[in-house]
Amino acid sequence: MKYFPVFLDINNRPCLVVGAGNIAARKIELLLKADAAVKVVAKEYSAAVLELRAESGIHCETREFEDADLDNVNLVIAATDNTELNTRISTLARQKFIPVNVVDKKDLCTFITPSMIDRDPVQIAISTGGASPVLARSIRTKLESTIPASYGDLAALIDTQRQNVKKAFPDVEERRRFWESILEGPVAEYAFSGRLQEAGTLLEQLITESSSDPDYQGEVYLVGAGPGDPDLLTFKALRLMQKCDVVVYDRLVSKPILELVRRDAEKVYAGKASSNHSLSQESINQLLVRLAKEGKCVLRLKGGDPFIFGRGGEEISELIDENISFQVVPGITAASGCATYAGIPLTHRDYSQACIFVTGHRKSETEDLNWAMLSHANQTVIFYMGLDNVQRICDSLKAHGRDQSTPAALIEKGTTPDQRVILGDLNSLPNLVEQHQVSAPTLIIVGEVVQLHNKLSWYKTGEEIV
Ligand code: SAH
Repeated sequence: MKYFPVFLDINNRPCLVVGAGNIAARKIELLLKADAAVKVVAKEYSAAVLELRAESGIHCETREFEDADLDNVNLVIAATDNTELNTRISTLARQKFIPVNVVDKKDLCTFITPSMIDRDPVQIAISTGGASPVLARSIRTKLESTIPASYGDLAALIDTQRQNVKKAFPDVEERRRFWESILEGPVAEYAFSGRLQEAGTLLEQLITESSSDPDYQGEVYLVGAGPGDPDLLTFKALRLMQKCDVVVYDRLVSKPILELVRRDAEKVYAGKASSNHSLSQESINQLLVRLAKEGKCVLRLKGGDPFIFGRGGEEISELIDENISFQVVPGITAASGCATYAGIPLTHRDYSQACIFVTGHRKSETEDLNWAMLSHANQTVIFYMGLDNVQRICDSLKAHGRDQSTPAALIEKGTTPDQRVILGDLNSLPNLVEQHQVSAPTLIIVGEVVQLHNKLSWYKTGEEIV
């Protein structure tokens, strides 16, 4: 780290700017934001600086810079176009241990100014160590769009209650949890929507109530992690992944996604290969309850979407019975993720007016399916967990009237760099599984839309077998 980031208190302190062009004007504006007592020395003044003088009453002197100008100043910015003068100012300032910035001359600076996001009192400063100011600005633009302007209001509100919260929650951990719950709950929502009065009242009420409730119970976040590509996570999933105390995850959760979970969170593998459950569903339910009762924030991380063949309903039903609070975060389900990454639109005005998600898992389940309905033309049928039953699935569809040449696809490890898309039809699909040694997780898509892959395929990382 070449530069050590600090935030300087220059409130009411004398700060000197030498030079009064347009760049100097921008620096003066920054100093004024921090309420510095700005003094400018320059031979000529740009309109921008004169305007600032009219608005803010900065002190301006029209003359050459003199060494004595550095007496009693807290910070100096040299913004002249005279290299010799800039160098002299830099040398003098260093001798007197005054922080100095020479515009666009990194070597002459003892500090550089970052790219900034101002959500007063929240300040975010971004620096590339002078390597690329354009990159810093581009990072700033990205952050600007995700950090609501009202974050400043929320921070100011929190500041008014810090001491009260300290008194109500002497324990550091408890206090952290309290603030986290405030930042993610209705108080923050009120502040974000401009209802500061309500935010303040509710915050005071929560402080009073919570201080008389020492039995903190944890919370469970049932979060969908999507089909594999970490870029398909939702913002909410990522936020909860980064704040949990413990994560209970499935086999389907990809490694790069797991790496995004808070580093010091405890990690519990709950298994769930279809034939080899390392923890029974009942033990998982009990585990979630126990961890939450210990006061932990428990992340239950599941592949795809928790409410689509994810047993999410069973897990939260148990939490409701045990009076444990929870949140559910949807994820991109395998059908949507895999089909998109394979260039197969699940519906299409010309070929498919419906799409149906079906479990192809156990024999008993597949026997119970309404095959007559699934065999209609002009619809897309997606089989989850169907790999072991692919022969039965294709036979049943054909037996109930679906054309044997209906296009069908196997998508193995969809949305990951190892994705394979294998295309065939209801006749050829079972052989293709064997021939290409297809393994789990694999999704089966049946329907006319599958042929669109030939034209619409766009994700080129994976392998494609047609
Ligand atoms: N809740 C999950 C589904 C769990 S069932 C979801 O919404 O996606 C597990 C089945 O999902 C697997 O047997 C497989 O058929 C499918 N699946 C999940 N992830 C997959 C992936 N990356 N590629 C292919 N199929 C996947």
